[in-house]
Amino acid sequence: MAKSYDVVVVGAGVFGAWIAHWLRRAGRSVALVDAYGAGNSRSSSGGESRVLRMGYGADEIYTRWAARSRELWTELFDRVNRPELFRETGALWTSAPRDRRTADTIAAFDKCGVRFEFLIDSELRLRYPHIQFSSERTAMYEPDAGVLLARRSVQAVVEDAIRNGVDYLADAVSPPEAGAVKTQSGETLQAADFVFACGPWLPKLFPAVLQGLIRPTRQEVFFFGVPAGNRCFAPPRMPVWLDFGDERRPYTLPDFESRGFKLAFDRYGPEFDPDTGDRLARGADEAKAFIAERFPALAGAPVLESRVCQYENSISGDFLIDRHPQFGGIWFAGGGSGHGFKHGPAVGEYMARVLQGSIQAEPRFTLEAHLAAGARRVH
Ligand SMILES: Cc1cc2nc3c(=O)[nH]c(=O)nc-3n(C[C@H](O)[C@H](O)[C@H](O)COP(=O)(O)OP(=O)(O)OC[C@H]3O[C@@H](n4cnc5c(N)ncnc54)[C@H](O)[C@@H]3O)c2cc1C
Repeated sequence: MAKSYDVVVVGAGVFGAWIAHWLRRAGRSVALVDAYGAGNSRSSSGGESRVLRMGYGADEIYTRWAARSRELWTELFDRVNRPELFRETGALWTSAPRDRRTADTIAAFDKCGVRFEFLIDSELRLRYPHIQFSSERTAMYEPDAGVLLARRSVQAVVEDAIRNGVDYLADAVSPPEAGAVKTQSGETLQAADFVFACGPWLPKLFPAVLQGLIRPTRQEVFFFGVPAGNRCFAPPRMPVWLDFGDERRPYTLPDFESRGFKLAFDRYGPEFDPDTGDRLARGADEAKAFIAERFPALAGAPVLESRVCQYENSISGDFLIDRHPQFGGIWFAGGGSGHGFKHGPAVGEYMARVLQGSIQAEPRFTLEAHLAAGARRVH
């Protein structure tokens, strides 16, 4: 006996969870299906934490979406009594003087009403004596930025969606045929629209369309042990720190819940299979050397934990949200490209409106734009 819904959303990562939330809010009957569970350890939305920052250089659409998403995340967390899932730490962006991206970000902030402070060399060193700055001489500080506790945030969205009437199924879905999808346990799901929000799995499910347009890469993160009693690496003294001027593209997150000071490099690793890839980190030596170079008080600090996750990169770094070119009623929502987590609420809102026909598709998210895309430009 087939189950029938208005919309079936496949994938309960941050994109699918928020898409289901918004569709249900719009009065649709919705099933949300996930093969491994919301925020599972294989998914791109798994793990402890993600940065929520508004700075995107000249890519103003992401500044607006991040600001909108921040509003929606905090609204949800207040409503479900989980305010601890967003930590407002601020974000510090350091760069060399006359950096183009900083100038573009400031212009976008002015236009979108995002608060920021511009810091010169002497202020930077006075405020953050525990960071060893290298080529940077200026910085921008976003006070409203912070950290989302990732896995728990996705689970909170899904729990709320279920309370609001979304039907959640723990099952794997095969690519659709003739207006229906089959699950691994043998159920048939029927719907007018199917949204595949399967992150790094999208090219496996739809190889003919998405192979080469979304490329999963292996990414490592490390948590370093802070010396006993040292509060320099926790909020409020340590914000999120990003240095995209450094070619290693390092960023750090402060020590929360005494879990450790987190470091990762935002550059693409090797290709990765989200189902079968092993998740033992290999880059601890480089991470330790970087920590010793930029945070002298942490030289020799032990790695307490490491994680291997995967980015699901589109060619340009733009999201890919569009309908299947051949099959009506089949949609893709993915291409988070290492920066998508924060935008979950805005992605969900956008997808629901596109499905309702109440807004036009954003050209840069379309398959057509992705087929024509050059190198990564969104970070
Ligand atoms: C190391 C790392 C650091 C990052 N840092 C940041 C950051 O600081 N800030 C930020 O905003 N973003 C960040 N990102 C990016 C962000 O986490 C991702 O863009 C986002 O989580 C992608 O979510 P998603 O819902 O598209 O995919 P996923 O979270 O992968 O969800 C896809 C879901 O689909 C399910 N699924 C797959 N196939 C099937 C099937 N056949 N049937 C049923 N279910 C299926 C999977 O189980 C999974 O749960 C980072 C990513 C990584 C890996």
